[in-house]
Amino acid sequence: CGVFGIWGHADAAQITYYGLHSLQHRGQEGAGIVVTDGKRLNGIRGEGLVNDVFDKKKIESLEGTSAIGHVRYGGAGKGGLENVQPFLLHSQSGGLTLAHNGNLINANDLRHQLEMQGSIFQTTSDTEVLAHLIKRSGYLALKDKVKNALSMVKGAYAFILMSETELIIALDPNGMRPLSIGKIGDAYCVSSETCAYDLIGAEFVRDVEPGELIVINDEGLHAERFSLSASSAMCTMEYVYFSRPDSDIQGINIHTARKNLGKMLAKEAQIEADVVTGVPDSSISAAIGFAETAGIPYELGIIKNRYVGRTFIKPSQELRERGVKMKLSPVRKVVESKRVVMVDDSIVRGTTCKRIVSMLKEAGATEVHVCISSPPMKNPCFYGIDTSTHEELIASEHSVEEIREIIGADSLTFLSVEGTLEAIGRKGYGKDCGQCMACFTGEYPTEIYPDTLLPYEK
Ligand code: 5GP
Ligand code: SF4
Ligand code: MG
Repeated sequence: CGVFGIWGHADAAQITYYGLHSLQHRGQEGAGIVVTDGKRLNGIRGEGLVNDVFDKKKIESLEGTSAIGHVRYGGAGKGGLENVQPFLLHSQSGGLTLAHNGNLINANDLRHQLEMQGSIFQTTSDTEVLAHLIKRSGYLALKDKVKNALSMVKGAYAFILMSETELIIALDPNGMRPLSIGKIGDAYCVSSETCAYDLIGAEFVRDVEPGELIVINDEGLHAERFSLSASSAMCTMEYVYFSRPDSDIQGINIHTARKNLGKMLAKEAQIEADVVTGVPDSSISAAIGFAETAGIPYELGIIKNRYVGRTFIKPSQELRERGVKMKLSPVRKVVESKRVVMVDDSIVRGTTCKRIVSMLKEAGATEVHVCISSPPMKNPCFYGIDTSTHEELIASEHSVEEIREIIGADSLTFLSVEGTLEAIGRKGYGKDCGQCMACFTGEYPTEIYPDTLLPYEK
């Protein structure tokens, strides 16, 4: 998911709309914006892309000087309008709206406890659990209520909350999802990714630190820590796949990181071939880096139809397979009679790779060497990237050689764990490397609860 917020700007809704537009790659299932005019919260949400949900008239109807917004990626909870954020709650003591990127791993547990105590939930989302905890907290100030609620939730979260009079942001103690602060004139804004700032003409101020809680209101910005045991474990897939190439996370540019992943991969793979091609869009940067280091020309061997959504989002395997066919086509003249290195960022189920290998061979490639710019994903992610069960992960059930055989490639190379960390620019390996590598190594940066293994509503 992607979150965006702005405090104290005459065009709050409009800017949030642009902000969400640049975060669209982080989720295509739903979008929403909630504004405040200082007295009342008012919002619009809907399923689909930002442009499906909003038009000029709707944006203009959202009057107010501060706003938060969300783009939804199907993670915890199921689909449906009720799960589209920002959630908006009204009560006699005032309204509250919240937008969340990440996944709370003890949400099932907390929800069970809350329901036993009489809470009634409207959604299947883990985010609503936090809303209940905040509303039930005995503290008076919203900031203290939020701190109190955050002391109970575990997992990955980048939150933006807003009342009529203030905006609060919080990042989990491991800082697993990106979140940063920018400024347009005197107005502070908050975004999952820094790419939003270029579009709206904001300047980047700084990243939000793990375990930090920041209040923004008419008095300015006030930052404090709600957790002292903060140690960075940024999601590695943010660098590998999820974020946009023009964003920077913790000072590291995504395109540069991906290019370095490709360079490292070329060193490790040592493949002889005629052309290198990337799978658009997410592995182009890695393919360019690979070609540069391997000394093999980079070519546009595969093109993408931009008007088809991300294949990964589609619900069934059958639809996913059809989606891939609709989306990617080979450039025959480029790959015909050539030994092709095909660089992709990751293998989850193996659907994409299998299809592309056969597509390239049908188009006349003599050999297809698949090189993946991340290690084999053997373990489910509980932190908001939707690879939630072992059965869905081909690398959890099969060896590299078995996967090579299944996808029909002439060779298959995954980047090593050490190579991945080095390429991103991290030193060392293990708990203090600054990155979450759990889907590759099985070393989860947080506790894992028995219930964590049960995705919501499955
Ligand atoms: P597969 O077809 O192996 O299940 O999925 C891997 C492909 O899906 C890669 O090409 C990757 O770019 C793309 N992809 C889409 N969404 C995601 C995601 O959430 N995580 C990962 N790792 N890859 C994804
Ligand atoms: Fe990211 Fe993998 Fe960690 Fe999930 S398990 S947060 S996908 S690095
Ligand atoms: Mg891809």
